[in-house]
Amino acid sequence: MINLVREPLIFEISSPGKRAINWPELDVPETKGLLSEVPIREDLEDFPEVSETEITRHFTRLSQMNYCVDFGFYPLGSCTMKYNPKINEKVAAMPGFTLVHPLAPESLVQGNLRIMKTLEKLLAEITGMDAVTLQPAAGAHGELTGMMLIRAHHVAQGHPRKYVLVPDSAHGTNPSSAHICGYTVKEIKSNEKGTVSVEELVKVMDEEVAALMLTNPNTLGIFESDICQIADIVHAKGGFLYMDGANLNALAGIARPGEMKVDVLHLNLHKTFSTPHGGGGPGSGPVAVKKILSPYLPVPVIEEKEGYYYLDYQRPQSIGQVRSFYGQFLVIIKALSYILSLGPKGIREMAEIAVLNSNYLRKSLEGIYHLKYDTPTLHECVFSDKFQKEYGVSNLDISKRLLDYGLHPPTMSFPLVVHGALMIEPTETESRRDLDMFIEAMKAIDREAKENPELLTSAPHVTYVRRLDEVQAARNPVLRWEQKK
Ligand SMILES: *Cc1c(COP(=O)(O)O)cnc(C)c1O
Repeated sequence: MINLVREPLIFEISSPGKRAINWPELDVPETKGLLSEVPIREDLEDFPEVSETEITRHFTRLSQMNYCVDFGFYPLGSCTMKYNPKINEKVAAMPGFTLVHPLAPESLVQGNLRIMKTLEKLLAEITGMDAVTLQPAAGAHGELTGMMLIRAHHVAQGHPRKYVLVPDSAHGTNPSSAHICGYTVKEIKSNEKGTVSVEELVKVMDEEVAALMLTNPNTLGIFESDICQIADIVHAKGGFLYMDGANLNALAGIARPGEMKVDVLHLNLHKTFSTPHGGGGPGSGPVAVKKILSPYLPVPVIEEKEGYYYLDYQRPQSIGQVRSFYGQFLVIIKALSYILSLGPKGIREMAEIAVLNSNYLRKSLEGIYHLKYDTPTLHECVFSDKFQKEYGVSNLDISKRLLDYGLHPPTMSFPLVVHGALMIEPTETESRRDLDMFIEAMKAIDREAKENPELLTSAPHVTYVRRLDEVQAARNPVLRWEQKK
């Protein structure tokens, strides 16, 4: 019997002399050819020896143990994990893009430079900003780049300033980026609506504050409706408003950060604009700025003159290059392909459905799972385990039980302002049918919490791996089944 739960290591399947391919007997003299000059290792200790069938089945079975967005719903909050149309992968995989040398002269890569310039213009249009750099390789890298632009401006004014304000509902990378850029982070508390408290901001905003970093919509999925007033307060003291726009699928085509008086923001092409996210693959975190910050943008800046595209390095105030060559060029292509295939109406529809799906989920589970902030949400909503806690069931138990229903759990215990958080972002790519499946599973789990809490506290029951010790699993991974007690 094939034991799906106990797939052995490939070394355990191995037996001496097995080969994946059996060549016919040589009918010519054996020669080492090109390798004749180099020492060749004759034997590799413990090298697995398996047949082609064994190797294929082993790795296919392992691949089935991975949950992925091509398999099912992936409701992680805070990081948009949506399905990405395959057509964009196809376009990015065209040899004209994949085989181009990063050092090819400008005159030979006019098409590629035009692609990049076109995406810059479209992102400027979507965000309502003046200029865009595509260089940063991820969201957090975009944040750092944005903070460096802000710092460069303050330094040019004669004083870099000391502090960056970050609300308690911000994404965790925000304080890190400010810190790496040499600033001391000051936290601002949220108010009872889950948004930034304007009174708190007035108290802490002064001429030593370089910027406020605002995630909007914030990690509670709530739109910072006082954003223009917040911008005015920050600007009045000469500070900048940084917006974390990683999850722009809540706003794109509907509202533009540039018109909300934002000075600089980053986008995550690998969340909103069609690149699979996670698994260590390439990301891209373009940064969009208002005119005041554009002299500091990383070099080279792509310029166009009479239809000829070129890379401009002659920018004395630039913070320098933040990424080699063009940034993540293939991610840029996927984003352009995605934006052009949707068009302006499609981009707006994307955002509308993302918001609709999130509110459908929130309304369907309201009263069953606790909502600390009952404010209408945009792309995600944050429940807590408060009701289930009465039966001794935590957000961890709920998440583990979801695995038994064949569903990926939501983000847990974040944001910190919600104790026992379950943060769910359905995204626009989920159908009503899939959303209902998730809702039904969550309702069933709530019933189980009341009737049979042990079922949840001992979950999962049908997965390849049962409940792990959270700390030990990371520090001391068990890679061999026999070692389990
Ligand atoms: C994902 C995310 C980031 C960080 O992006 P990375 O590409 O993972 O570095 C920052 N802010 C928000 C709101 C995010 O969702």
